[in-house]
Amino acid sequence: MATKSKAKDTWRYWGIGAILFTLFGWLIPEVGPMMIMIGSVVSVLYIFFQMPLPCGAWNRGDKGRCRNNSSGLLPGCHLEAHRWQNVKWMLRTGKWAELRAKVFASWKRALPAVVAAATIVSGMAAVAQLAVSVVVA
Ligand SMILES: [Zn+2]
Repeated sequence: MATKSKAKDTWRYWGIGAILFTLFGWLIPEVGPMMIMIGSVVSVLYIFFQMPLPCGAWNRGDKGRCRNNSSGLLPGCHLEAHRWQNVKWMLRTGKWAELRAKVFASWKRALPAVVAAATIVSGMAAVAQLAVSVVVA
């Protein structure tokens, strides 16, 4: 059982490859903007919904932040109150400061958030390049 869950955990890091591809694909001449665009979408979905991360929600009773594992930046851990807390906070404008504090409270959450932003930028650059090539052609 232990070996099985370990293999599953390793598998959950597959998206790191997609992220590296999106950020560094620009350096490889064979990789076109179309592939980077796809890599960007895959990377963002991976970080938001699958990347193994600590949950980071506040625990009741001032016990600090939740350390349960969460699949991705958005869903949170298995606890009902933590589920989709990030998404709920995003939709409630007054919660942005709290959300930012939560994301940047730990580098384990801040790093993927920054990487997600970087892959989005890379993807938008790819879209811009594609648009330019279509207009020029
Ligand atoms: Zn939690």
